[in-house]
Amino acid sequence: MKEISCKLLVVGAGPGGYVCAIKAGQLGIDTVIVEAARPGGTCLTVGCIPSKALIHAADEFEKVVHAAAGNSPLGIALSGPALDLARTVAWKEGIVGRLTSGVAGLLKKAKVKTVHGWARFRDGKTVEVETETGLQMVRAEAIVIATGSAAVELPSLPFGGPVISSTEALDLSEVPGRLVVVGGGYIGLELGTAFAKLGSEVTVVEALPRILPLYDAELTRPVGKRLAELGVEVLTGAKARGVSPGKDALLVETADGKEVRLPADRVLVTVGRRPLTEGWGIEELALDMAGKFIRIDDQCRTSMRGVYAIGDVTGEPMLAHRAMAQGEMVAEIVAGRKRSWDKRSIPAVCFADPEIVSAGLSPEEARALGREVKTGLFPFQANGRAMTTESEVGFVRVIARADNHLVLGIQAVGQGVSELSAAFSLAIEMGARLEDVAGTIHVHPTRSEAFVEAALRTLGHPLHI
Ligand code: FAD
Ligand code: NAD
Repeated sequence: MKEISCKLLVVGAGPGGYVCAIKAGQLGIDTVIVEAARPGGTCLTVGCIPSKALIHAADEFEKVVHAAAGNSPLGIALSGPALDLARTVAWKEGIVGRLTSGVAGLLKKAKVKTVHGWARFRDGKTVEVETETGLQMVRAEAIVIATGSAAVELPSLPFGGPVISSTEALDLSEVPGRLVVVGGGYIGLELGTAFAKLGSEVTVVEALPRILPLYDAELTRPVGKRLAELGVEVLTGAKARGVSPGKDALLVETADGKEVRLPADRVLVTVGRRPLTEGWGIEELALDMAGKFIRIDDQCRTSMRGVYAIGDVTGEPMLAHRAMAQGEMVAEIVAGRKRSWDKRSIPAVCFADPEIVSAGLSPEEARALGREVKTGLFPFQANGRAMTTESEVGFVRVIARADNHLVLGIQAVGQGVSELSAAFSLAIEMGARLEDVAGTIHVHPTRSEAFVEAALRTLGHPLHI
């Protein structure tokens, strides 16, 4: 058996692991990273990037279909739009290929050694990797667990045949005629909307009383309206019971207790993701857990000395940028720098139609802390840029402390608002007050002007409404 020693070993090269390894390498730490699949993890290979590529393709296709139907107020006319999904998927794979080889190159540039294969812990300092050329032992002073997550499988709907997870949905060669999506959360709505735009007849089955329960109803209302416009049927308070014996339909118990049969060519199950905590020897470490996740402290330390954990395996929010920020922090800690998790905002975006963004606290969360708060909302209906891009739906909403006007939270729903997330998060991290936002010149005409106006409205003196 081959054996290597290093200062830092990272298990898993998703956004958490690869960022940690690159940063550690840049800091001069002798680092090894182990990855069983392609570098980039869920995010780059079957998650964030492929889904956003498909969503973009679907948006473009829907625009031309809309124009071909004679519905364009811009005077654009065309006929016979068609889609070759196999080509769309090949284009998406091209982007994935560029990014994964980019990550491999960055690891190399930072002098990180990559070992390809499945890692298994022997103890808190030693990992065995099954590589193509045999077993490789890696000994390390510090180890980072960044093994990520996998799609949750429902016992009544095991994956296989027509029942698919997001991974298969992102790799289809034909648009399903009838698609039933189980779970109206992030993935269900992002991909369900994309397939509706690509021509599928889509039904969403959500167990809770409303879609996207993570966001408040004011934010999700425009998404529900748009789903209806796209012809997507949404069944809330409904439970999937399993596929029909002929495997051509999903059996569902509706909110009023009736059983209905939803014909389906594919059933996409998107009911959450579970941390990947089995198959790599967690039992050898006896780590403290926080439910199904690995328990960590504010430096991402686990209960075992020298063993850190980052990313999806450590809990919610399971987002790529949280994993990256944790990875970067842990590399600095291993390098001897003083760091701890002190983020006020882990912004989140749902790339539905329209997009939703949330940074910091929602009005309910802020009130629950016992603070008196002020909120103000500015609708895109009163924003010039929104009018010129035919997308007046949505708003920006600001929540601030009533006493000193410190901004506690900012949310928005609308076309392209994902790009406003940077400004929202920066304001919160820098401790901006309403007056700071209101006093910052924002370019005209842009959607970002709605941010200033929301701050002005919270102060009680908006200009453009
Ligand atoms: P992962 O990305 O899951 O990486 C873990 C890696 O570890 C994998 O490559 C795996 O092969 C490897 N591994 C595991 N165990 C071992 C082992 N024993 N030996 C060797 N290798 C191992 N998040 C966002 O922020 N924005 C989005 O738009 C977004 N969209 C998404 C869309 C979809 C369809 C999905 C499924 C997820 C999406 N996410 C999004 C979530 C995001 O992908 C995850 O939060 C992120 O990838 C977590 O990073 P990670 O490093 O913790 O784990
Ligand atoms: P999710 O938690 O966002 O949504 C799951 C939905 O399924 C919930 O609304 C839940 O109520 C519903 N549900 C659960 N069990 C059900 C059942 N038996 N029948 C019907 N509905 C049921 O999970 P997801 O959409 O699978 O995404 C997983 C995670 O991946 C997200 O939580 C997020 O962290 C990450 N993600 C992020 C993005 C983004 O940042 N834009 C995009 C995709 C995924």
